Amino acid sequence: LSTHRADIALIGLAVMGQNIVLNMNDHGYVVCAFNRTVSKVHDFLQNEAKGTKVIGAESLKDMVSKLKKPRRIILLVKAGQAVDDFIDKLVPLLEVGDIIIDGGNSEYRDTTRRCRSLQEKKLLFVGSGVSGGEEGARYGPSLMPGGHIEAWPHIKDIFQSIRCQGEPCCDWVGDEGAGHFVKMVHNGIEYGDMQLICEAYHLMKDVLNMDHDEMAEAFNNWNKTELDSFLIEITANILKFRDSDGAHLLPKIRDSAGQKGTGKWTAISALEYGTPVTLIGEAVFARCLSSLKDERVEASRSLSGPQGAKFSGNKASFLEDIRKALYASKIISYAQGFMLLRQAAKEFGWVLNYGAIALMWRGGCIIRSVFLGKIKEAFDRDGELQNLLLDKFFSDAVQDCQASWRRAVSSGVQQGIPMPCFTTALSFYDGYRHDTLPANLLQAQRDYFGAHTYELLSKPGQPIHTNWTGHG
Ligand code: NAP
Repeated sequence: LSTHRADIALIGLAVMGQNIVLNMNDHGYVVCAFNRTVSKVHDFLQNEAKGTKVIGAESLKDMVSKLKKPRRIILLVKAGQAVDDFIDKLVPLLEVGDIIIDGGNSEYRDTTRRCRSLQEKKLLFVGSGVSGGEEGARYGPSLMPGGHIEAWPHIKDIFQSIRCQGEPCCDWVGDEGAGHFVKMVHNGIEYGDMQLICEAYHLMKDVLNMDHDEMAEAFNNWNKTELDSFLIEITANILKFRDSDGAHLLPKIRDSAGQKGTGKWTAISALEYGTPVTLIGEAVFARCLSSLKDERVEASRSLSGPQGAKFSGNKASFLEDIRKALYASKIISYAQGFMLLRQAAKEFGWVLNYGAIALMWRGGCIIRSVFLGKIKEAFDRDGELQNLLLDKFFSDAVQDCQASWRRAVSSGVQQGIPMPCFTTALSFYDGYRHDTLPANLLQAQRDYFGAHTYELLSKPGQPIHTNWTGHG
């Protein structure tokens, strides 16, 4: 084998890594594959990569020796210690200007730390969010790269050729951990979108008593509206799916949701940076509550809901109310997600291109939807847009949905249906549109018991303390 002939190396031959290698191979790149357990390199070359131009490496040293310069190495290994371990082993083998790309689901702070430490060694580091799962990795993932921008000209062509086609869903995101931060918020939004759909399903099932085929048809119809998206499409398919015994599979599935943590990270960041990303927070908590299955079964025996509150309205019009509640809540969720991105950009001095981010999420991602195109258009109209809700398209859309949204939420509450995301979205909307909130009382309470002071509307910026009790 001649040396220095591979265009890029990829470490980590699990699901994602294997598919990205094959994707890069399809686009004409010679990829050198490596894995901690080296036998997996052999297996891969003899099976999935048989007949391709992919080459393997026996060791990191061997891998590095096969690469063109500047060397480009993608890590697709388990997030956390495995990434640091590989970086530590690679550093002594690399030269100034070589590039390490972490495509795993790393925490953005780790990416920032790695950027800084590799900068000292004059190596370039890119932390790239990769979305789209196995299928996306193989045929077109959404990529969200951030870190040392000097690396971008060297990897841009590869990234843009393997990404989802048809949509420009890969652009440079920003410095340090910006790529992984954007990927994290993307995952949080995915949690929100999924929970919103679950709440619509719950209302259809338990308020309207719709059967599975009817619900599948409703979601199919919704997919022809503003809600046109991958998640609505798969929901319709899931609802109509029948098990081998001919019965619907969905009601047989245990109602206890798992999570891997990126939604939680988004909620933690929201708390950390003081941004009210309430919907993603509720979506994470909804999964936590669902996972208390045994406790809920126990509680269901003694805790009762509203008695005799049967829905008596018009079925078709309530179904449309649910659809509009979902659409309006989704607008709130994305508005909140972009608020968090703005706040992080301020916090870390990142310059983020919000329209480009919407486009990166538009294709290839689980949250891909027509709706994201509307977000891109809003940022095209005003790059400095403070909040999506202040864009005319979205404020008109919410206005159009508002009456339905309130009816869906109030009927659901009357019927005792939990709708954490529908309700928090509406509360956020009502809070955001109020010029006066009851926080004046809160400030008075804080001053009363803790002398925390307050400001008067007429004298902003001047802290005042009142002796509320008259005691010395
Ligand atoms: P994974 O199960 O997260 O990781 C398996 C890979 O990591 C294997 O190559 C494994 O090597 C290596 N590895 C694990 N622990 C290691 C350690 N301590 N030291 C060195 N190597 C170690 O694989 P994946 O599902 O393909 O995901 C790869 C990355 O992409 C992850 O960060 C994941 O979160 C992210 N991601 C996954 C998806 C998805 O749909 N699966 C989507 C987007 C992003 P061995 O073979 O030697 O064990």
